[in-house]
Amino acid sequence: MQLAGWGRFPRVDAELIEPPTAQAVITVLKESDEEGTLIARGAGRSYGDSSLNTQVLSSRFLDSFSSFDEGSARLRCSAGVTIDELLKVSIPKGLFPAVVPGTKQVSIGGAIAADIHGKNHHRDGSFCDHVESLTLALASGEIKVCSTKKNKELFHATCGGMGLTGVILDATVNLEKVPSVFIRSQAIATKNLNHTIEQLEALNDNKFVVAWVDCLATGDELGRGIVHAGNFTEDAPMEYVRRWGPSVPFNTPSLMLNRYSMSWFNNFYYWLYNRPAGEDLDSYDSFFFPLDSIKHWNRLYGRKGFLQYQFLLPEDTAQKGTQAVLERVADAGKGSFLAVLKKFGAGNSNLLSFPGPGLTLTLDFKNEASLFPLLDELDKIVIENGGRHYLAKDARLSAETFKAGYPQWAKFKAVKDKVDPQQRFSSLQSQRIGLTTAKDERL
Ligand SMILES: Cc1cc2nc3c(=O)[nH]c(=O)nc-3n(C[C@H](O)[C@H](O)[C@H](O)COP(=O)(O)OP(=O)(O)OC[C@H]3O[C@@H](n4cnc5c(N)ncnc54)[C@H](O)[C@@H]3O)c2cc1C
Repeated sequence: MQLAGWGRFPRVDAELIEPPTAQAVITVLKESDEEGTLIARGAGRSYGDSSLNTQVLSSRFLDSFSSFDEGSARLRCSAGVTIDELLKVSIPKGLFPAVVPGTKQVSIGGAIAADIHGKNHHRDGSFCDHVESLTLALASGEIKVCSTKKNKELFHATCGGMGLTGVILDATVNLEKVPSVFIRSQAIATKNLNHTIEQLEALNDNKFVVAWVDCLATGDELGRGIVHAGNFTEDAPMEYVRRWGPSVPFNTPSLMLNRYSMSWFNNFYYWLYNRPAGEDLDSYDSFFFPLDSIKHWNRLYGRKGFLQYQFLLPEDTAQKGTQAVLERVADAGKGSFLAVLKKFGAGNSNLLSFPGPGLTLTLDFKNEASLFPLLDELDKIVIENGGRHYLAKDARLSAETFKAGYPQWAKFKAVKDKVDPQQRFSSLQSQRIGLTTAKDERL
């Protein structure tokens, strides 16, 4: 069957293996051809090719909960359970995951493998900072329980390790007690990039802070945007929300996405929030997962799909580097509906985790031939400014660019070589960025 990530680029003909139980995963690993390679796949919400190979092992049926200790707010579940399924169980008990991404449709295995971050990274770190332990099936079929105390090296390689150390079977996750699942938020319109960064810093005491940036604004207005900040509020209910919205039934003709339509959207969004300061009350669902209510929204980018480009710049070069990227994007006329700027807090000890102190900008681009030279130029700006790219969004980074951004890559590779000497776990991404060798080259 044909498989792709959320960006629908690239696509690959793959054999999809869907073991019904953890024991069946182990059997697949023990019985499969030692020469073949495969990669784990959760909900397929990474944008590029990190969960693609010619053989893909799905965690879809690893969807059970094994324990839930309300007192310690600790839950153990299988790796295929999604954040949404977890919320159904945790919200009635007044508990919420400490970190959630921009969609609730990701699996726990995928959240660990990418060590995902949310709008509260500056306060609460990334997803794996709240993972008590995980169970990993190695290429040999052997099982390892890993945590910051047990099999520590393997834990720090698996968290953020993009599925390359083994298949995560289950995890024990620490949740957070919350007063309600509603967020009282404010939105502040900013005039330019300096003002946006200033506001991100000024609002840093809030639990959740994120800025939308008008990436088609130029000149004195370059980097203008809307900074959203919020906190869980006490005076609201604790209820699981099910929002129904429209569905995009087919691929939108990609001609509809052009400089003019994006410029219209960006101006409209800016106008919508450019109003006197006031407070809004949002359900967790609309605050954290706004796009989830539009089913198949990724079809809006047309048949060829789209690429998401997310990078991190350290604090000392963040303003300069972000400005250079935005100028280059605006010059090229390649707008993005979703330009999101966040300020990260401290990083952690995971070898390939993306977050670290500084600013991260996310941009979406329609897939077209003229995009690739532009992204190569942006890569240079990011690397020259000491930054790196987020692997969960990537579909095209070179090995050189990846390695420049992740100085711990060789340490990661050494751990992988120990537990997977034959490189059984391999994705199109890991082959491209030089973490594994393509099968043909190994012969
Ligand atoms: C609308 C949208 C918003 C997003 N917002 C954010 C955000 O705010 N912050 C953020 O950090 N990310 C964000 N993401 C990205 C997403 O959180 C990550 O890509 C996440 O890894 C997806 O999880 P998944 O279950 O879909 O994994 P997949 O896409 O299926 O796989 C991703 C990686 O995880 C590995 N993997 C999956 N399951 C396992 C397993 N059981 N064992 C070992 N490895 C496994 C795969 O091999 C692959 O390398 C967003 C994605 C979308 C579509």
